[in-house]
Amino acid sequence: MLSGDGLVVRLRVPQGRLTPAQARGVAGLSQHYGNGVIDLSNRANLQLRGVDPERHEGLIDALRALALIDVDEGAERRRNIMITPFLQAGDDTDFLTQQLITAAEIHALPDVSSKFGYAVDAGPQPVLQGDPADIRFERSAEGQLLLCAEGAAMGKLISRDTAVAEAIALAAWVRAQGASRAARALKAGATLPSGFDHPRQSGLGTPALGHYPAGALVACAFGQMDAETLTALANLGPLRLTPWRVVLIEGATALPDLPSLITDANDPLLRVVACIGAPGCAQARGETRRLARDLAASVPQGQRLHLSGCAKGCAAPRATDITLTATAPGQYDLIRNARADAAPDLRGLTPAAIASYFRKSADAP
Ligand code: SF4
Repeated sequence: MLSGDGLVVRLRVPQGRLTPAQARGVAGLSQHYGNGVIDLSNRANLQLRGVDPERHEGLIDALRALALIDVDEGAERRRNIMITPFLQAGDDTDFLTQQLITAAEIHALPDVSSKFGYAVDAGPQPVLQGDPADIRFERSAEGQLLLCAEGAAMGKLISRDTAVAEAIALAAWVRAQGASRAARALKAGATLPSGFDHPRQSGLGTPALGHYPAGALVACAFGQMDAETLTALANLGPLRLTPWRVVLIEGATALPDLPSLITDANDPLLRVVACIGAPGCAQARGETRRLARDLAASVPQGQRLHLSGCAKGCAAPRATDITLTATAPGQYDLIRNARADAAPDLRGLTPAAIASYFRKSADAP
């Protein structure tokens, strides 16, 4: 994609996992071909920014040498698979991910739409329910494997052996309804095939930063890091990408003291999300990240502020507690409990007026 700072090159990293050599390689390529800035996306992808369009082909060849390019575009398109970062080698999540990838490679996954995707989330309790996917592998409260369609409260009991065939059948069912997404088919009144009669369990929500049996979950402000930070993380172990714009460092127990790394789950910067805004994005109506940093400490704990450079709202596709949508340089609309393109509650606020709004909200009884 062409952006205000050059091409943005998005990598759908196989299994959402970078080996240390791959991560170091990507860091070097981001400096050589781009501006050394790397984004973590809310679909667990990586984005290299500022790539010179003239040198794009060279970058693709170098990424291929790192085994980060699929053999064909069709397989890459169907391999839209989000994976819990808490998997352990050989567990159901690991097994089902391998099976799904193989199915994508042999073109066995139905081509439903470009956004149609899968979540492999078969740990004791789901962690990806807040993240976009159409077909999910989860676990019931009793510990059995469940196949779930987005938007349905009930799942189908499956086994390792039947899981992927059942998922393929469910994707084919969505396509047969003439829908591009599973939730849309259900919303339009379609009834799932038989067998979807076992209750799903509620998910845990987005996990906090910290240490887990699989490794350490760490963040960078706005899900963006420089090449030096990626290299430093690579030196600690393989990296697992997440849709929460944070990274799990496999097996890490100690963390580097890097100014760009967030390791404290209470860091105020975790309460703000902001797209790149102006001047990085050509569509932006105003600046986002400097204002987000200035306001972060004013956002009450447990709430989220979204700074959006325009009404598209790329950084937060869902409603947030407060959204500030830039409408012109130095001017923002304020929207409560909705998306960036919703009708504003307050219009045309300056940064000073926004700061005053937060002060008054904090003083309110
Ligand atoms: S929300 Fe608008 S300004 Fe921000 S990245 Fe998306 S298109 Fe660009």
